[in-house]
Parts: sequence; C-alpha cells; structure tokens
Amino acid sequence: MLEVYVEKFGGASVNSASAVRNVISILQREEKLKIVVVSAMGKTTNSLEKIVDLWHRYNKFNEEEFLLSKNYHKSIIQDLFENNACIDIALNMLESIFDELKQVLFGLNPNDYDFLYDKIVSYGERLSTAIISLYMTSLDLNHRLVPAQELIKTDNSYRGAQVDWKQTEKAVEEKFKILFLETDLIITQGFIGSTREGYTTTLGREGSDYSAAILAYCANANSLTIWKDVDGLMSADPKRMPNAQKLETVPYREAIELSYYGASVIHPKTIKPLENKSIPLYVKSFVDVNKQGSVITHCDEVKPLIPNYIFKDKQTLLSVSAKDFSFIAEDNLANIFSELSYFGVKVNLIQNSALTFSVCFEQNDYILPRLIERLQQSYNVKYNNNLQLITIRHYDEESIVNINKKGRILIEQKNRVTLQCLIEPNAE
Ligand code: ASP
Ligand code: MG
Repeated sequence: MLEVYVEKFGGASVNSASAVRNVISILQREEKLKIVVVSAMGKTTNSLEKIVDLWHRYNKFNEEEFLLSKNYHKSIIQDLFENNACIDIALNMLESIFDELKQVLFGLNPNDYDFLYDKIVSYGERLSTAIISLYMTSLDLNHRLVPAQELIKTDNSYRGAQVDWKQTEKAVEEKFKILFLETDLIITQGFIGSTREGYTTTLGREGSDYSAAILAYCANANSLTIWKDVDGLMSADPKRMPNAQKLETVPYREAIELSYYGASVIHPKTIKPLENKSIPLYVKSFVDVNKQGSVITHCDEVKPLIPNYIFKDKQTLLSVSAKDFSFIAEDNLANIFSELSYFGVKVNLIQNSALTFSVCFEQNDYILPRLIERLQQSYNVKYNNNLQLITIRHYDEESIVNINKKGRILIEQKNRVTLQCLIEPNAE
C-alpha cells in the first residue's frame, strides 16, 4: 500500500504572496507522497457570501464585493509570480474564472439559496488552488490539481452536504492510484464536493479540515497535518488568555469534546474518520515550522492535563414559563423544543426548574423576535442578550475563581470533567 500524507492549508496560510511561498517551502521540506488540501485565500469565502446574499435577497449583482475579491487575488498574483509573462498568464486565468463566476451567478435562480450558495462560494477554493497550481507550474514543481468534485461525493443537502463514503472511497482510490504514478504531489480544494449528478456542494463553513480528514480516511493516509497560525491545540484562545499553553498529545475523544464545546481550532467533524482508522492528526504552526505542534491520537489522557477554556460570546438566555403558573413538564418541553428546531436554533445549554425552562444559544437578531413571538402565544418569555458561555474542561479550584472574576454567573453546570458557566460579562 502507498504511504500517503495529507496536509491541509487554511485561508490564513494562503492569504498573501509570501504566505503562498511559505506553503510551497513547507511542501518541499520532505519527499513524500502528499495530498494537499487548500482553502480559499484569506476572507474570500465571506466576500463570496455577500455576493450570494445580494443575489438571493434582491436579485442584484454585488459589483463592489466582486471587484474587491478580484483585486485581492490580482494583487496576490502580482506579488507572487516572478516575471511579467507569468503574471500575464495568471491574470488572464483570473479574469476568466471571475467572468465565469459572474455568468454562472446570472444564470442561477435567486430563490434557491442553498444551491446558489454552494455553486458560487466554492469559487473561493477554485481560485486559490488555480493560482497555487499555476505558481507551482511556473517553478517547475511536478504536481496534479484535482477538482474536489471528482473526489468527494455527497448527497444533495447543499451548504452542509453529507458524504457518500462508498462513492468517495471509490473515487479516491481510482484517481490516486493513477495520479501517484505521475507525481508525488496532488492538490485539491477543501470544503467542496459534488452530488451524484455532478452539482457542486459544500460541507459547511470551515469545512476544509473535514475534507482533509475524508481524504485521509479514504486514502488510508499515514497522517493528516493541519497547518495553523497557532502553535497547536491550545488550552485557551491565546488572544483571550495570554498564558494559554499548548496541548502536546490529545486523545481523539478529548479533541471531539473540545470542538463540540466550541474550540474553534479544528472543525468538529474532522476527528471521527481519523479515529476510525487510527490516523494521527498533527496541528502545527505554519509560522514556525520547526515547533512541535500537537498530536491527536489514541492515548489515555490529554497532556498536559490542565484546565481548557472555551469561550462563546454573544449568547442569548431565553427563559420560558407557563402563563398559568403550571409546571413546565414534558408536553411543554416538547413544544418549546419543536419551536427551537423549527428556527434551526443550536442549543448550547439548558436548565429546567418547576416553573421556568431556560435555554442558551447564539444570539441571532433575525431569529430571536420571531421565536419569541411564537412562544409568547402560549408562554411568558424573558430574555437576556450579550452573555458569555464559558466551558472549562478539567476544571480546578483556580479556574472556578477565575470565572467568578469575569462577571456575574447566571447559570452554572458541572459534571466530573466539565464546568459550564453562563455569565453576564463585566463591562470592559
Ligand atoms: N473557505 C471555507 C470557509 O472559510 C472553508 C474553510 O476555510 O475551511 O469557511
Ligand atoms: Mg477559512
């Protein structure tokens, strides 16, 4: 069997010409068979989302965002390629991809948001990989660029497609068997797949990690490395807690828990396929490539075993009680949950007492008034916005004291390993 390694580079690792050069130098460090998964450059996905939004809502073309994105890619090309002839070729390619994007958009039904979204937003990855591949060609670097649509096969739930594992395994096996005879380096897009009929799908925001895990699984890779702008998995977001420490080794299960509670370093769906085939996941810094990073693998316990903090801002706490002061029992709960599910609310924390049911979720100023209006038909409803949910895995006395300093605690829940507090943060 081939020894294959999967490497994933996110938007921040390809957000400028020098960042792209750094990626190339990382890829040249070791001679191995590699599958390289690349995201859209910088904030391109957000830009394309704005284009989709305007088309969907008002059937209008977002010229401004289109030009901003085009100029952003243009400036990367101008800084990246060595000579004018190469720059011209790359700029022509860019023009034609953006022309195509516009044409495709104008042919799409504005009402079919999810389908439209996947078709247009996937151009971000298409652009980044096209530029990087052309740059590699200009350096005489032998590689193959494979459209992810030919590898990752999904159902047709646009914007959050489910993987068809059988078809994907088959496609990966067939393609890679041939391509690895021709090259050591296969490049493809993260985030993107396609339906049986060949329509483009996406796996959900930040889904490139998941793409990389899918390919690692299907190619029976030796490892997956995700290159980040942080040193690895950290015990907290270093921007919030400067004394955050790097986690050296993390059991798969612990990594799933951390991403479930909202640690944003890796996409939550990434870990399971890797665990199923015992493929280690390395999280490493592309800024300082010689640093060790973190490894997620089969092991008993996270090392070092210290409290891990996960913060979620902008939370809403909604409290629901019956109008006639009756108890909130199973039938009421079933009603309330069906409303939450109707609005697609993802519940982060719940608490129930005899008379009141409280639920915490991410603040959404569009959904909240509508949800309240529906609930008020049967219940008294109160809410609080701008709260913060703090989750601590492996909490200790000191971490509890730390939380108390951060604000007034509205809800506190604890089990053996995890402490969650919903707080009203102190004014800064
Ligand atoms: N470009 C996509 C996003 O920003 C996918 C990814 O970066 O993982 O959500
Ligand atoms: Mg991204």
